[in-house]
Amino acid sequence: MATTCVYLGPDLARYGFGQGHPFGPDRLDAFWQYAKAQGLDAHITVRAPVSATREALERFHTRGYVERVIRQSASGEGYLDNGDTPAFAGIHEAACFVVGSVLDAIRRLLDGSCARAFVPIAGLHHARRDSAAGFCVYNDCGVAIETLRQVHGVRRIAYVDIDAHHCDGVFYSFEDDPDLLIADLHEDGRYLYPGTGAADETGTGRAAGTKLNIPLPPGAGDEAFQAAWQRVEPLIEHQAPEIILFQCGADSIDGDPITHLRLTPAAHRHAATRLCRLADRHCQGRLLAMGGGGYNRANLARAWSAVLEALTVS
Ligand SMILES: [Zn+2]
Repeated sequence: MATTCVYLGPDLARYGFGQGHPFGPDRLDAFWQYAKAQGLDAHITVRAPVSATREALERFHTRGYVERVIRQSASGEGYLDNGDTPAFAGIHEAACFVVGSVLDAIRRLLDGSCARAFVPIAGLHHARRDSAAGFCVYNDCGVAIETLRQVHGVRRIAYVDIDAHHCDGVFYSFEDDPDLLIADLHEDGRYLYPGTGAADETGTGRAAGTKLNIPLPPGAGDEAFQAAWQRVEPLIEHQAPEIILFQCGADSIDGDPITHLRLTPAAHRHAATRLCRLADRHCQGRLLAMGGGGYNRANLARAWSAVLEALTVS
């Protein structure tokens, strides 16, 4: 019987910006050591990271941008954006493993060889079609959405994001796309990068009403989260997606060094559990979770483990 697939290995861990950086290469191990201590390894299938092709990247990103990343990845110099996302030697290859693992997970969800999937180092939701942003080089979520459409013929997709930061790279790339439901709970952009995701941003043109932005005030906890979450489920019920993508960023947990929300892992567990139920009802169980942000190692270990546990039991 197909189980939950989890993508693990040094090729995926390598995506990061050096030891001591909030987005350091130690994040994957911090999660997995904790998950194993909880006994979660007994209920999943470990999958090795897979690299993405250039062709796959260019389903979402512009050719010029991919060429720039490849160039700076060779030199290891400069920034890939205005100063948040440094180029290091090999960053192109590392980012390809993030995207490729997500694409492999999608293929396996569609062919039934995975029941659910979790790619811990993924959900790089800030990257734009033509630039990096906020520690995100390639937008694996965006490439996944384009690949679902262009390769697998899947049109109706629900993208749910509970990272503390607004998913601007996904949102503005598909703002006018009526078949992509976006529901994003995040810290109010007046207090946190990237500053976007106001409640009145609900999609443009034919996509009006297919996007839900819920900004939460700094200090908001599980109670505010639960109240906001009530608004997410009816939208998904109404859309009846063919697959659900879930960016479960752990930087919305109390104690993150760069954000101000105060959720507990119970919020992540609740969202994952409810999304599994919706996935079972509408999309043959297909749910892909992507780790997203999270810069307090203990927090990301607990939040992602709560998500993984929900995926394996729900
Ligand atoms: Zn974040």
